[in-house]
Amino acid sequence: MTSIEEMYTFCKKKGFVFPNSEIYGGLSGFYDYGPMGVEMKNNIKNSWWKRFVTGRRDVVGIDGCIISHQKVWQASGHVACFTDVMVEDTKTNERYRADLLVADALGIQTDGMKAEELWQVIQDNNLTSPKGNPLSAPKQFNLMFKTTVGPVETEQSTAYLRPETAQLIFANFKAVCETSRMKLPFGIAQIGKAFRNEISPRDFLFRVREFEQMEIEFFLRPDQMDDCAYLKDVEGLQVNLLSQEAQEKGNEHSQTTIGDMVKQKKCTSWHGYWLGAMYQWFMDIGISPEKLRLREHLKEELSHYSSATFDIEYHFPFGWKEIHGNANRGNFDLTQHREASKQNLEIFDEEKQEKILPHVIEPSQGVDRAFLALLYEGFTDDKERGNIVLRLPPNIAPYQVGIFSLVKKLKDETEAVFDLVHEEFACFTDHAGTIGRRYARADELGVPYCVTFDFDSLQDKKVTVRDRDSTTQIRVAIDSLPEIIGSLIKGAAIETLGEQILPTTDSKEQ
Ligand code: AMP
Repeated sequence: MTSIEEMYTFCKKKGFVFPNSEIYGGLSGFYDYGPMGVEMKNNIKNSWWKRFVTGRRDVVGIDGCIISHQKVWQASGHVACFTDVMVEDTKTNERYRADLLVADALGIQTDGMKAEELWQVIQDNNLTSPKGNPLSAPKQFNLMFKTTVGPVETEQSTAYLRPETAQLIFANFKAVCETSRMKLPFGIAQIGKAFRNEISPRDFLFRVREFEQMEIEFFLRPDQMDDCAYLKDVEGLQVNLLSQEAQEKGNEHSQTTIGDMVKQKKCTSWHGYWLGAMYQWFMDIGISPEKLRLREHLKEELSHYSSATFDIEYHFPFGWKEIHGNANRGNFDLTQHREASKQNLEIFDEEKQEKILPHVIEPSQGVDRAFLALLYEGFTDDKERGNIVLRLPPNIAPYQVGIFSLVKKLKDETEAVFDLVHEEFACFTDHAGTIGRRYARADELGVPYCVTFDFDSLQDKKVTVRDRDSTTQIRVAIDSLPEIIGSLIKGAAIETLGEQILPTTDSKEQ
């Protein structure tokens, strides 16, 4: 199993992710995406946006500011309550997130445990800090980063870097309704940065202080929550569910369907629909079903305004962990903003002929956690080839095609092949080193197809296309290349697209 340290080293070495400010020793909880990482991350975001925003009639997008009026975060409850419980090493003054410290030390579930309960467990088990020193009693620590707007530092000029993208959707709700003519039910989506001053950033990209979210607030009339016309699209979907009951009894997850969850009233039909739609998206971008599960939040974990919340979890080498949160938030947020802003945030519902303050289902996705899950899913240490093969789907891989000249002297002709395909597909060329080394490097970057121009290509106007996963090679006419690559990306079997040949070897280079 690939440890998180090995994954970090791989990402750094191959240009996916670098530690932020590394030349100054790094900054804990911050990572920069390199040339490979930014392409892959953009592909994840594009896939999500296309599926859930531009691909639908009932969702529109916004792109809000990272800094908003402090009242936004007061109204949402973040200023008062967006806290984690922290304990301090009484000798070194190092601070730890209490639930993680207890979970690590005792191997127990600590989700939803309050400060007093955590303190009780710490005392009952004589837990110390990781350095072996006594711990202080727990304190609440607010996770928002503070800053000052303008040149004068006063209480009024205090602002916060947004800890989630969702509140910008609520704050812009009225403006979107007035300008985009959406009728209930409809959603507003946003992709963007979020910042949380995590007490214990860890597990590489999993828990960081600056990350990206893709969120939807899907607005519904309260009487519409169980009236989802799209439920049929996902009701047969098989999901692994770790229910409240299973968690209470210490049982494992079991298989069910979204339709059954709705029938059992674990969630409303619209909530079930959004859970299924997101679960399906993960499978469609290449996550294997046995590594995905839904975890129902325990009653004590639920916020007072949420009637149901489910996480989608991925089975990382460091355990089952949340990669997506999906909550029924009622009309809590709009009510809060209506009261704090004294603005009427109700909208007129034509069907009911009345004013309504809608309720929401909130699918909330972390981009960085999806990125990490996809890396784990694709990472294969292929002993036979002697290199890593990153089996990423073509629409997620940083590049779709690597274009190589067998020897440097064929560079110009090879660059002409690049010109033929690069507008349609994400391509790069490489002319240096043995062809075997270049294939291995492409495998490691997840490039699904490589094209090689050799001496025969000068005569027969054909090139070799190699498939990353099977290493099968076929010979195809250069001018049919865009069509061939298009078919491969759509899932056609490589053997059906051209004459299969023996692998190009380096001996041809001599
Ligand atoms: P939450 O608002 O805490 O439910 O978070 C929603 C989603 O944001 C989670 O499912 C994660 O995918 C992502 N997320 C939250 N906190 C972090 C973090 N510190 N680092 C990376 N991703 C995060």
